[in-house]
Amino acid sequence: MTRPLPPNFSESELTSALDSLREALGATWVLTEESEIASYRDPFPVLEADHFSPSAAVLPHTVEEIQEIVRIATSCGLPLSPISTGKNLGFGGAAPRLPGAVIVDLKRMNRILEVSEKFGYALVEPGVTYFDLYQHLQRHNSGLMLDVPDLAWGSIVGNTLERGVGYTPYGDHLSIQCGMEVVLADGDVIRTGMGALPGSNTWQLFKYGYGPQFDPMFTQSNFGIVTKIGIWLMPRPAGYQAYMITLPREEDLGTFVDALRPLRLDGTIAHVPTLRSLFLDAAAVAPRSAFHPGTGPIPDSVARRMSDDLGIGRWNFYGALYGPDAVRAATWSVIRDAFSGIPGAGFHFEGEHPSPVLATRAKIMAGVPNLETYDILRWHDNGGHIDFAPVSPATGEDALRQYELARDRCHEAGKDYMGNFIVGRREMHHICMLMFDTASSEDRAATLQLCRTLIKEAADLGYGEYRVHPALMDEIAATFSYHDGSLLRLSEKIKDALDPAGVLTPGKQGIWPRHLRGSGL
Ligand code: ADP
Repeated sequence: MTRPLPPNFSESELTSALDSLREALGATWVLTEESEIASYRDPFPVLEADHFSPSAAVLPHTVEEIQEIVRIATSCGLPLSPISTGKNLGFGGAAPRLPGAVIVDLKRMNRILEVSEKFGYALVEPGVTYFDLYQHLQRHNSGLMLDVPDLAWGSIVGNTLERGVGYTPYGDHLSIQCGMEVVLADGDVIRTGMGALPGSNTWQLFKYGYGPQFDPMFTQSNFGIVTKIGIWLMPRPAGYQAYMITLPREEDLGTFVDALRPLRLDGTIAHVPTLRSLFLDAAAVAPRSAFHPGTGPIPDSVARRMSDDLGIGRWNFYGALYGPDAVRAATWSVIRDAFSGIPGAGFHFEGEHPSPVLATRAKIMAGVPNLETYDILRWHDNGGHIDFAPVSPATGEDALRQYELARDRCHEAGKDYMGNFIVGRREMHHICMLMFDTASSEDRAATLQLCRTLIKEAADLGYGEYRVHPALMDEIAATFSYHDGSLLRLSEKIKDALDPAGVLTPGKQGIWPRHLRGSGL
């Protein structure tokens, strides 16, 4: 595999920059050997396997070391790519957007700095994973519950910065973030909100502080390196029960979403539920070949048989009830009434249905971290995925329109539709997993092209994505084109002001520094 140089760098210029970094961090913490940097490549490459490769990686241990790294980088124009744990699978993993950038791996900064039982919050460094904080809470018999994403091996900071989601009432991760510490490209360190006031004890209690609020600006951006964040933790509920509602027909999607919206809006369903398609759930049971030996999309007749055999629907909704018995019973009766008009809908509590997905979702909605969702990768040999992730209004009409678009384009590309809707209060993240054989260059190219087509056609219908793989960051940025791209121009103005040398994660979310703008890298 090749180890690309950063743009405009010669081998000797890179060596001299790395020597300065060795002086600052100690030689042990500057990695350049192939065996050491292999893990910083895209785990599911859609381009050549070594396309999104770093030239090196550095592993700082303190905020001061990060300040030193950015000063060295700024002085010689060395591009950096900070990651927390780099488990951002399906969205490039640990790989840099700019080939040749130096990874700043923050996994050694893994302290849980504070947990407040009284106020329900934690203050953590970037290397702290969801597993770590969960285990810490368990060890201390905490009365607090952590919201976890599908795969809990990633970092709390990394997931929050990407605006990831979980599934409890605290599932919108940016909304439960409170207080941040950030190193800027010039080496300055800021604390946001109340954290700027020396001696303050409200940094993790009140987000806004005084004056402009900057925290969201450091998410899905390349304006700073985040070294601490506060997150809120929910008190453990008095009781809990996960459930599944199965829907027998594809078109039930529309009716269901229209009945669901009022329950999310008024808080009857106060957490983040999911609505998953048949094949996504089938993939948790067995590989595709076990259901259908042929190539091309699985035919409808087979899908119907799978649905019968597995005892699940064409769509399956996963929710949970939180609170004391009486509250759960009352909430459940409202939920059942709302959906009981859908012919053939099945209502199942966890423990009363053999679905492995229900068992996994029950853990996740209870804030118990696990890696079981990873099972879906066995759908294909050498399974990988990239995600087409448009935001849909929470209406049946929009959900069906997005579903039909994704399904039809997947079928034309010979693939199965494997999607789910993650239901926010007013919108849904529609995550379409475009599965592919990572060992096949044809499949990789076809999958990338499929994602491109979907982005374009969705944009023509007024839909945009919430997150994307590095290979398509520019494409999505270009679809947010109001007033000739004024939003991206604003990001570029901020980038130029905060990072004039353009060293922090060039190209992330389509935001390039001035000297690389339009370079097509
Ligand atoms: P996770 O392991 O939780 O999935 P990652 O570490 O892969 O998260 O981070 C996802 C993305 O967020 C990275 O690719 C990077 O662009 C950005 N990021 C992560 N951590 C930081 C950080 N501490 N400061 C700035 N950006 C970060």
